[in-house]
Amino acid sequence: MSAVPPKGERTFTGIAVSPGVCQGRVVVLGKIHAAAARHSLTDAELPAEINRFKQALVVTRQQLSEVQRRLTEKMGAEHAGIFEAHLLVLDDPEVNNEVLRFIQNDKVNAEFAYQTVAERYAASLAAVDDEYLRERAADMRDIASRVLNNLHGRGDDGDLRNILKEPCIVVAHDLAPSQTAQMDRDKVLGFATDVGSRTSHTAIMARSMKIPAVVGLKTITSDLRTGDTVLLDGVNGLIIVNPTDQTLFEYGQLARRQRSLDEKLRENQNKPAITLDGHRVTLSGNIEHADDSEAIRSSGAEGVGLFRTEYLFINHESVPSEQEQFEFYHSVAAALAPNPVVIRTLDLGGDKFKSDTNVPQEMNPFLGWRAIRFCLEEKDLFRTQLRAILRASAAGNVKMMYPMISGLEELAGANALLEECKKELRAKRIPFDEKMEVGIMVEIPAAVMIADVLARNTKFFSLGTNDLIQYSLAVDRTNEKIAHLYDPTHPAIVRLIKHTVDAAHAAGNWVGVCGEMAGDPVLVPLLLGLGVDELSAAPPTVPQLKFLIRRLKISEARELAAFALKSDSSADIMQGCFELAHRSAPEIFPEGI
Ligand code: PEP
Ligand code: MG
Repeated sequence: MSAVPPKGERTFTGIAVSPGVCQGRVVVLGKIHAAAARHSLTDAELPAEINRFKQALVVTRQQLSEVQRRLTEKMGAEHAGIFEAHLLVLDDPEVNNEVLRFIQNDKVNAEFAYQTVAERYAASLAAVDDEYLRERAADMRDIASRVLNNLHGRGDDGDLRNILKEPCIVVAHDLAPSQTAQMDRDKVLGFATDVGSRTSHTAIMARSMKIPAVVGLKTITSDLRTGDTVLLDGVNGLIIVNPTDQTLFEYGQLARRQRSLDEKLRENQNKPAITLDGHRVTLSGNIEHADDSEAIRSSGAEGVGLFRTEYLFINHESVPSEQEQFEFYHSVAAALAPNPVVIRTLDLGGDKFKSDTNVPQEMNPFLGWRAIRFCLEEKDLFRTQLRAILRASAAGNVKMMYPMISGLEELAGANALLEECKKELRAKRIPFDEKMEVGIMVEIPAAVMIADVLARNTKFFSLGTNDLIQYSLAVDRTNEKIAHLYDPTHPAIVRLIKHTVDAAHAAGNWVGVCGEMAGDPVLVPLLLGLGVDELSAAPPTVPQLKFLIRRLKISEARELAAFALKSDSSADIMQGCFELAHRSAPEIFPEGI
């Protein structure tokens, strides 16, 4: 990059979460509940402002009616009833007349007038000692954010498909993983957000969908406007506004180098993941959708090490039936047989929510009613999934694992339900794999401490390092403000991984890593040196991992691990990882821009 950026070019730096470079027109999505700025108007401007406000109400009414119509079609009128309440709030003459008077008398812009009035009504409703009225406060705020988005000309942000009409770069305060998962690859060239981090599920989805992304840009929604043209660099975490010809030339060269590296990596696709000194590694892929099996095959992965089933629930209008789930799991298992497919039972919660479930908002969602805790209480929902997985196991090499296991009681509780389901299927003579391996995610420090006990009661472990790091270091994995504290080479993390591997091996079990550490080529030699048997990563990263493994010596990886286990410095461990990875496969670390 040129040392002094020429005039006109501006660069914003954030956290690179999904590689790739794109250039295009920006669409800024509304920041829900952002304070509307106050602008004074002249008398002459007032009629147009009043008209703009009335027009925003009309557009909002059309959007609500459309959502109501779609929902009625899919789920019946009773589920769409909430929109009746919303339409009533939108058309409340008391509120709307007050806004009109405010614009007229105080000569202010419609956004400011509407937000001020709506918030006053919402606050007084929220303070009333009546549950029904308190709920209307939430309706009022919900409607207010829709009207404000329309006043800003930002459309209906809830459903990206409604506003992205042509290829663009999406800029938002935050995106839910469910929104990212629904992105149309042809319409979204890349995205940038104010908040977020590398291991948030939004970032994980972006990597798996190969959408270049930069997060944690803090103020990017205010820095950019819809219509700006920018270059997004998901490798170095940059947004460049008004890139100069020199910058575009440099990026063109980077893209050419990347294309020739991709070709080189493809040559390895059908070769085994084996080190120079003959150590065999199982290299698998993480998937979120039933139609991801092609991505697994073309990446050169040997199977699926983590099937995050929650996306089948999040982006589904209703809870998928046993038959629907069976079809999802069966299609992946059959497509990849005889390669293994590790299906993880539902891990809802944390930052993955189903928009229409009644899970109450929690103060600490990552420590809350999540994953196996949720499933052990929602037993019918859990049994439905267990039966669907068991039935799919007849079609291929299916293994199953439970997320967020903290102790033996949870494991025993889940296994008891599994046994009930097996009995049911046997009674109905429905086939399933009687020997289906059952394992657990190791992602809570308590599970590591009792790994010997858990290993005796399971067939395998999969280390969920995203959560293990978050819980061990007490660092929220989605919070960009403390992203620098989220430290995979912290000596504690190295020892936790080693402890888990030793416990698994002592019981004769295999152990994998399916957290994002497994997809980072710099950290892979350390994981292998610590004795990890399997790595599972987003399919687009698998080719470079295989390339690296085939150029690595396990003896050197073990030396690195021995050093890391004795070291008291995270920086020294990271430096050792960096040196070994770069020395072994310099080709996959192309020079930055
Ligand atoms: C993990 O925690 O490392 C993991 C793989 O699970 P998830 O990212 O879905 O929480
Ligand atoms: Mg996890």
